[in-house]
Amino acid sequence: MRFEDLLRPTPQGLYCPPGDFFIDPVQPVARAVITHGHADHARSGHDAVLATPQTLAIMAERYGEAFTARRQPSAYGEATDIGGVSVRLVPAGHVLGSAQAVVSWRGMTITASGDYKRRPDATCAPFEPVRSHVFISEATFGLPVFVHPPDGEEIARLLESVRQFPERTHLVGAYALGKAQRVIRLLREAGWDRTIHVHGALERLNALYQREGVDLGPLASATVPARGGGGLPGEIVIAPPSATQDRWSRRFAEPVTAFASGWMGVRARARQKGVELPLVISDHADWAELTDTFTELAPEEVWITHGREEGLLRWCALRGQTARALRLVGYDEEEGEVETPGSGAAID
Ligand SMILES: [Zn+2]
Ligand SMILES: [Zn+2]
Repeated sequence: MRFEDLLRPTPQGLYCPPGDFFIDPVQPVARAVITHGHADHARSGHDAVLATPQTLAIMAERYGEAFTARRQPSAYGEATDIGGVSVRLVPAGHVLGSAQAVVSWRGMTITASGDYKRRPDATCAPFEPVRSHVFISEATFGLPVFVHPPDGEEIARLLESVRQFPERTHLVGAYALGKAQRVIRLLREAGWDRTIHVHGALERLNALYQREGVDLGPLASATVPARGGGGLPGEIVIAPPSATQDRWSRRFAEPVTAFASGWMGVRARARQKGVELPLVISDHADWAELTDTFTELAPEEVWITHGREEGLLRWCALRGQTARALRLVGYDEEEGEVETPGSGAAID
């Protein structure tokens, strides 16, 4: 028996032949196991979806209640039998509800981690290491140059800028699922207890996080007249990244544009996006988190997917860790989050 008998890459995504299900399929399938709610992993139109209750709620919020014909909620740690294959979801530490899918069958266990990070995040359950024969890892930041600084330092730079420029609005670009809520929580932890103003495109997911028990403190809609400019001086506004760059941003007082993303560690990217204050805050593991995880789990095989696979393959080869690249297609590298039409810039 080979590991590929249990899970194998296909054009639609990772497929489990004995259980006849896909993990994070990129096309509609009969039965899907979904690791988390980011748009490139969680698509609508599957007949049946097994996911954590939070991920199912996120999918319903984004796609409408009819996103699947059948929802199968699975709490963290609970094992579900699918055609003789055991599927258990354990926390991945990526965003609210995010899970690693631990798939076991005939004495073999494979963990498909989806997207993950290892550092603390008050908006979701921490990554839980699971010993398995095969560990499937993302590789978004899979090069040694990617070193994410402590997020508290990045938030301190934002607050320092707010103190320095009290007459300007600080406009922080953050993706709607996960990043926006994490930035708000980090601001609260750093002592910023004033009302935080948010773009309309973020409100429903903020409300969902709050319903799920994540305390975001006082929030208000960033509704200021479009004409004239000069709105909300001295305040912090959180918005989808695209909105911080377009016409919508002109209503604020000489906005300082910030962007919270792991990619902001790459100066050229920040410059190219016209970001004045890049904040290196990521929901993905950086190089050290990825390689430390491989060392800690010491699986028989590491399978590497979406991102920079070559550097991690080389790292594994040098340490005698068996590894292969899955070359799955259809996953996005922009922090796993595509801005869908209507998610941001269109709202004026
Ligand atoms: Zn991803
Ligand atoms: Zn993701």
